[in-house]
Amino acid sequence: MNLNSIDILKNSSAPTIVAGPCSAESEEQVLAVAAALAGRGVSLFRAGLWKPRTRPGCFEGFGKEGLPWLQKVKKEFNLPVATEVANAEHVELALSAGIDLLWIGARTTANPFAVQEIADALRGCDVPVLVKNPVNPDLELWIGALERLNNAGITRLGTIHRGFSSYGETYFRNTPQWQLPLELRRRIPELPILCDPSHIAGKRELIMMLSQQALDLNFDGLMVETHCNPVCALSDARQQVTPDELFVILDRLVHRSSNAGSCDFSLYRRQIDEIDDAIIELMAKRMNISREIGAIKRDKGITVFQPFRYNEIMQRCEEYYRDGRLSAASVKEVFEAIHAESVRQQLLIVNDNNG
Ligand code: PEP
Ligand code: MN
Repeated sequence: MNLNSIDILKNSSAPTIVAGPCSAESEEQVLAVAAALAGRGVSLFRAGLWKPRTRPGCFEGFGKEGLPWLQKVKKEFNLPVATEVANAEHVELALSAGIDLLWIGARTTANPFAVQEIADALRGCDVPVLVKNPVNPDLELWIGALERLNNAGITRLGTIHRGFSSYGETYFRNTPQWQLPLELRRRIPELPILCDPSHIAGKRELIMMLSQQALDLNFDGLMVETHCNPVCALSDARQQVTPDELFVILDRLVHRSSNAGSCDFSLYRRQIDEIDDAIIELMAKRMNISREIGAIKRDKGITVFQPFRYNEIMQRCEEYYRDGRLSAASVKEVFEAIHAESVRQQLLIVNDNNG
């Protein structure tokens, strides 16, 4: 990918802070938030004008009516401004209003037609664009969106990790699944990755903890939804913080260095590598036994999947997290993965007619 750095996101070596309301609600609201943020280390002011709502009937934003409000923020407070675009018309309106940076929302990233339309509308103007992860945990879709923009000549690209949606009641509004942005970092190291703890959390109490985790994982910055009166916000009221709360969070964050410097972890890492080798060795042994069972199932005409046995394994795994040394969620994930591999191995055996 042909990338250039986004100058407005970087005013020091500290993490970049993007802040502002979920939605621009009125000129007064936008200016009040900007006044409270200006001159205090925030690099970029955000406010949504076109709001992609999951269900009809929710507040869908003021659209182009709000563009002059953002222009005022820029002029009065000397703060660069950013908004979300979801189609070519939004791009044209935002660019002609002098919006400094555009971002693509999670629902839009998931739609290659929409991303291509935006990329085509941006062709020839190298405005910085941040691409949020798609709502579903699909790294290729995320990278595909970046490539579409890059192919249209956009080189000042960055990303925002806002978590992934899942069905049912969950602790986070969008689960972090940190392994995806970390894999993105591995694949495209020069691409900036910000974290949006507001949309991951869904509730303001979790924003401090998520922001710290993002810094500990070496993210380049944070996008935090900030509103002077969050409970009355027209969108995402539960997850917005006041400017004062934002600065308390930012003051409390611990900054660590990504450079290991003089610390030598090699002794520990060797031990970890040995343990990992042993885990894989044991897994292979376990799969040998699974395959033996698979052969019996094949010969006796028994189905591979035995719900009773699966329940038994999942119940047994409770014993492994009851003492609190490992989290319930990871123990379950590990056992699900082991069982899935075992089923896969047995499916190969029962369908192997040479056996
Ligand atoms: C937003 O930033 O307000 C927004 C709609 O975010 P997302 O696309 O992450 O849901
Ligand atoms: Mn929002």
